[in-house]
Amino acid sequence: MSTVTVTDTMDRPLRDLRISLTDRCNFRCSYCMPKALFGANHAFMPRDQLLSFEEITRLAGVFTGLGVRKLRLTGGEPLIRRDIDKLIGMLSAVDGVEDISLTTNASLLTLDRARALKAAGLNRITVSLDGIDDNTFRAMNDVGFPVAKVLEGIDNAEHAGLAPIKINMVVQKGVNDHDIVPMARHFRGSGHIVRFIEFMDVGNTNGWQLDQVLPSREVVERIDAEWPVEPLEPNYRGEVAERYRYRDGAGEIGMISSVSQPFCGDCSRARLSAEGKLYTCLFASAGHDLRDRLRAGASDADLAEFLAALWRRRADRYSELRTGETKPIDTRKIEMSYIGG
Ligand code: SAM
Ligand code: SF4
Ligand code: SF4
Repeated sequence: MSTVTVTDTMDRPLRDLRISLTDRCNFRCSYCMPKALFGANHAFMPRDQLLSFEEITRLAGVFTGLGVRKLRLTGGEPLIRRDIDKLIGMLSAVDGVEDISLTTNASLLTLDRARALKAAGLNRITVSLDGIDDNTFRAMNDVGFPVAKVLEGIDNAEHAGLAPIKINMVVQKGVNDHDIVPMARHFRGSGHIVRFIEFMDVGNTNGWQLDQVLPSREVVERIDAEWPVEPLEPNYRGEVAERYRYRDGAGEIGMISSVSQPFCGDCSRARLSAEGKLYTCLFASAGHDLRDRLRAGASDADLAEFLAALWRRRADRYSELRTGETKPIDTRKIEMSYIGG
């Protein structure tokens, strides 16, 4: 295949594509889809507005021609979309795709489903789990979903051969920070990697304030006080999580310090919404419509030209600009449930 590497105004290549498969979710995590705004009357995207598997696959082929090597499927809750193993099979066959991963709340991850995903070509899975204490977790997902069922989903992924599994915990001060050490305790020695994520001001609905962010440095200190840890080298340039290992050999943890130490300088990610809009930053206020172009008959070359021009103009570095602000920067941003993590 022929690949042209495009770089943006900060010399960042386009390497990763996050694909949101749906804006729907069976959870109502208060920081992502608060019930007050995502209630019974919320209008989700109509099905015919979503990109079909064929359209997603075709776009993936155009993106790999511009340098993309990694795909991550997300949402909303991606496992709500039926037959995603079929999509994974189609994406694995795209020239240039080297890695396919999935971010999920694991609530729908049965053993059969996990096996089908693995067999179709899924390389890695990240499970979001914001607490190990059942009451805390039920309150955070706000639909009373039990921790035990997510742990079962994690076990199913492991049995299907998807280990080691990354487990993402978004930490909100005063809400679930008491669960940091218990979370670390639970997964120490399991081979899975818990990553503690600073609560971000994504979207406009979660009422973010800087004082709700517990800096990763403090998370490391709390864990280090129980089980000493030491930093590890990044696996590759631009890795988002800072890695640490337990000195006693019980495994690895990660810190994603999007607020206290932004990593825009290495950001090679683009995001595709379920209805086919492309966002060049998690905090973008406007997307670029690819679906209408596809449906109007654009050729792959037309699409590639459009995307290359878009990426060359890219100057996004929201998190770096936000540093030092105690409130979100005042722009209308896209919601996390729409664009995926
Ligand atoms: N539903 C799936 C899940 O929860 O894994 C995939 C989509 S979810 C939007 C992707 C990730 O974004 C989750 O790990 C979630 O915790 C994270 N996330 C959502 N809102 C966030 C915020 N305000 N700050 C930090 N992470 C956030
Ligand atoms: Fe759903 Fe994931 Fe958002 Fe929670 S974080 S509401 S599981 S999309
Ligand atoms: Fe990338 Fe935007 Fe996040 Fe910076 S703020 S790391 S540019 S997505």
